[in-house]
Amino acid sequence: MSVKPTVLKLGGSVITNKAKTLTPRLQTIERLTKEISRANVSPLVLVHGGGSFGHPLAKRYAIKDGYRKGDASQVLGFSETHQAMVTLNKLVVDVLIQHNIPAVAVSPSSCVVTKSGRISTMMEEPLKKLLQNGFVPVLFGDAVLDSDLGFTILSGDQLTTYLALRLCAARIIMGIDVDGLYTNDPKVDSSALLVKRITLEELKTMLKQIEEPKVTDVTGGMLGKIAELMLAVEKGIPSFIVNAAKPNNVYKSLKGEKAVGTLVVRG
Ligand code: ADP
Repeated sequence: MSVKPTVLKLGGSVITNKAKTLTPRLQTIERLTKEISRANVSPLVLVHGGGSFGHPLAKRYAIKDGYRKGDASQVLGFSETHQAMVTLNKLVVDVLIQHNIPAVAVSPSSCVVTKSGRISTMMEEPLKKLLQNGFVPVLFGDAVLDSDLGFTILSGDQLTTYLALRLCAARIIMGIDVDGLYTNDPKVDSSALLVKRITLEELKTMLKQIEEPKVTDVTGGMLGKIAELMLAVEKGIPSFIVNAAKPNNVYKSLKGEKAVGTLVVRG
């Protein structure tokens, strides 16, 4: 690939209503699609989170903790969790195609195996070929097979960083439902300050101080997100955290225009 791809992650909190099980935010998905279409960035890889589709089921069946031998309900739970993600993914991909974006769903459970929760193998060739041919692969946090645990949950955040590293991405754009990284969770602390630019060194110090969000999220919330992003930033892939719930931020970020958010750089 001559031009380095952009990896855009759309948070589950953005594209679904996390407070209501299996509830997509269709207008937001439509708006984001228009922004992606208008920005016309290529190559582009999209990853989305699970929000109220994947997380409640994954939690109910404790999929992340792995397979408890003999528990047939958990096996069915794996299928249900994956299927909920496929349902959300279809909603997203359908809207992208309606807006003439050549999106192709790539299901992580079919091409990724993890080992103790970390990606150990991924069948990357189809993905690379999709990109070379101008398609926009759309991946998602998913229930996946794990060589130690039997199965587990792969977060969209881990997948985003993994793809950025493997595809030598130019950048990661991380769309969430607040304006970026704050000194504390802005939903519980109104005095929290937005961090506009942060280096790895500063981030390591700050990580010791910020609190975890109290939401139904089996994959680590903001701390998990930052820990994943750091792995890409360490290798020189700048990451921009932006509020994708607010109009035009994703468009501006894709175009490289100034937008409110947090830029994480190596230093
Ligand atoms: P998504 O599911 O969309 O990927 P999450 O809901 O897991 O994202 O994480 C984003 C949430 O993390 C925000 O809505 C915010 O309430 C919370 N959060 C916790 N701590 C922070 C922080 N220091 N800065 C920004 N957001 C934070």
